[in-house]
Amino acid sequence: MSDFVNIQLRRITCCNCGVVFAIGEDHVQQLKEKGSTFYCPSGHGQYFDKVDPCEKSKRRIAELNEQLDAAAKKIRELERGNRCEHCGKRYKNLIRHIQKQHSEQLTEKANA
Ligand SMILES: [Zn+2]
Ligand SMILES: [Zn+2]
Repeated sequence: MSDFVNIQLRRITCCNCGVVFAIGEDHVQQLKEKGSTFYCPSGHGQYFDKVDPCEKSKRRIAELNEQLDAAAKKIRELERGNRCEHCGKRYKNLIRHIQKQHSEQLTEKANA
């Protein structure tokens, strides 16, 4: 039997400790099919899910960033609009206008 066997290795990076190790591609396929857990050299559980756990948190972060972007965009729009929500007119200094003209509404809101 020859010592020179070509095997395909899949490089795995542990998402807990960052250690890089490799497992055979055939074995990767088995793990994927069964969804079985395997371990990095430091003993952190890994598994091939439809979505792997590292990918999951990356997606979650992307989602949160999108939400932040949307919120920031809304704030920018409000600032640009400078439209008074009470009388619907635009003012350069909206805060001062609201404090001057709508202080009653503001206190009502605060007390509500
Ligand atoms: Zn690890
Ligand atoms: Zn107003």
